[in-house]
Amino acid sequence: MISRRLVSVLGSTGSIGTNTLDVIARHTDRFEVYALAAHSSVDTMLAQCLEFSPRYAVMMDEAAATSLQQRLPENTVTEVLQGESGLSAVVTAPQVDVVMAAIVGAAGLPSTLAAAQAGKTLLLANKESLVMGGHLLMQAVRESGARLLPIDSEHNAIFQCMPLDAQATPSGKGVSKVLLTASGGPFRRWSHAQMVDATPDQACAHPNWSMGRKISVDSASLMNKGLEFIEACWIFDLAPERVDVVVHPQSIIHSMVQYLDGSILAQLGNPDMRTAIAYGLGWPDRLASGVAPLDLVATARLDFEAPDQSRFPCLRLAREAVAAGGTAMAVCNAANEVAVAAFLDNQIRFTDIPIVIEHALEQVDNVEVTSLSVVENADTHARQVAAAFLADFQPATGVVERV
Ligand code: NAD
Ligand code: MG
Repeated sequence: MISRRLVSVLGSTGSIGTNTLDVIARHTDRFEVYALAAHSSVDTMLAQCLEFSPRYAVMMDEAAATSLQQRLPENTVTEVLQGESGLSAVVTAPQVDVVMAAIVGAAGLPSTLAAAQAGKTLLLANKESLVMGGHLLMQAVRESGARLLPIDSEHNAIFQCMPLDAQATPSGKGVSKVLLTASGGPFRRWSHAQMVDATPDQACAHPNWSMGRKISVDSASLMNKGLEFIEACWIFDLAPERVDVVVHPQSIIHSMVQYLDGSILAQLGNPDMRTAIAYGLGWPDRLASGVAPLDLVATARLDFEAPDQSRFPCLRLAREAVAAGGTAMAVCNAANEVAVAAFLDNQIRFTDIPIVIEHALEQVDNVEVTSLSVVENADTHARQVAAAFLADFQPATGVVERV
């Protein structure tokens, strides 16, 4: 009989979080939920607490924590914690085996890093933490002996297509390139002029994947692929020229590894994050995930094309940030978060997102990443620069001008 592994799910009320709990619910003989953590969605958190009886539920928002406490039944086994200290406690507790890092955005960095430092099995969905502090996070993983299992579907696919000894030294084991696939997003065929008028709902209507709103906008702008490009360089210790992006509109191949002998290994499946989540939870075993088996005959076609960096400048900006190194990636990520939030709030147009990011990359000094505070300072400064730039936009005409 296998002892049950204790899991803390950070970002449990989101898209990755709910899919994680869906997989865990299929394997209650193998996993027990130790803690759930989210920002402020009390209704979803309450329902999750009633179903999974975690020992702790963490709400970042104080009012949400109070409300959850009041609404839990009197005989509950769940203790409510609040804020960063609560989050840190449920990540570093010695009993915890597995941490699912599925908070969205830079807010996930401290807890993801804490899980790596504590030597946990780290299921990494929160790509922004790696983009910002890749150097620190990978160093923490190495020093503590943590096991990082990528949950982003592309990196999970690469992990599956690259033997572990090759991952330690990819260049020495016959790997020539990693091929990151991109769906191209909802605007793959849209002209720049059409994208100028794109609404948040159009940007969030992804053709293949159902995801949170921030990553959906990133997918539409191809910044998601830019962030994933940086993520691949860090996780697999690859020089940027060894990572290629291939647009594959069906999202059936989740990424590939090309070897020196001419072989390409690919991982295929229906676009459903539960495959990657089940792989991470079960590794090295395979677990049922609830994902329907792929019907290749019904799929019939797999198409490929090159990404268009002129219509989608965010991909170019992310590549420039990784080439620049240092804090440029944190700046790129922070300015993108500010711009995406402004777009979702109807303050700027979709096509303004790369303009805001480029401005921040030009304005914020690039320094070497030597500590978490260096990354956090770059993040704060980039947000200030991006916000000040947005304040100078021209709302009267509805057209964003560079000033
Ligand atoms: P989401 O918006 O659906 O959920 C985000 C979760 O984070 C929620 O539970 C929310 O309460 C929590 N949260 C937000 N701010 C927080 C804060 N300050 N402190 C603590 N918790 C906070 O997002 P998602 O789509 O599930 O994405 C989560 C992460 O996974 C992102 O980094 C995303 O890039 C990555 N990812 C998502 C998918 C996907 O299919 N959704 C695929 C690959 C990678
Ligand atoms: Mg992905």
